[in-house]
Amino acid sequence: MLEREREAMIRSISRKIEQMAKEQGFTDFKWMKPRDVVTGNWVRMKCKFGCDGYGKGGCCPPEVPSVAECRDFFDEYKVGLLFHCAVKFADPELRRRWSRATEKKAVALERQVFLADYPKAFVFPPGGPCRICASCSASRRECKNPYAARPSLEVFAVDVYATARRMHYPIHVLKRYGEEMNRFGLLLVE
Ligand code: SF4
Repeated sequence: MLEREREAMIRSISRKIEQMAKEQGFTDFKWMKPRDVVTGNWVRMKCKFGCDGYGKGGCCPPEVPSVAECRDFFDEYKVGLLFHCAVKFADPELRRRWSRATEKKAVALERQVFLADYPKAFVFPPGGPCRICASCSASRRECKNPYAARPSLEVFAVDVYATARRMHYPIHVLKRYGEEMNRFGLLLVE
């Protein structure tokens, strides 16, 4: 697709989808080309080594596609909405509740966009690993809520730091619990 065709497509769909995003509480967003999403093997290695959630989530490695498959998946799309949430929690339980609520809103947005005749709509919620259930089955096949479960960007090997900076959003490594987090989600549209 030529650049001007892509821009015309974004213009035609953007207002409608932006309104849907706002209705779900996502007010800070930018349109992007999914091919500009940066992926890296190092992200998957961080999941595998150094994360205590490895193997414990039905939307986390190893229950997810390979890094190469994730890259191919992003490249199948021409347009996506990157959304940013700046949040701060002193209490891990409050963070968990926010993640769960945000995941539900992101999935509701995906459904609205799907029903607006964008069958490829797929969302990566900004709240981190799937937290829909109090206790995760740790398995895709035995997922307790398969219609609502979605992976985070990190799970799909996205270098969120590089992607956010490419889109001129702030992000940095946090040093203490309770610092403001810059969380990112992505709605792949078409
Ligand atoms: S919906 Fe529940 S069981 Fe499925 S991945 Fe999410 S937390 Fe795990």
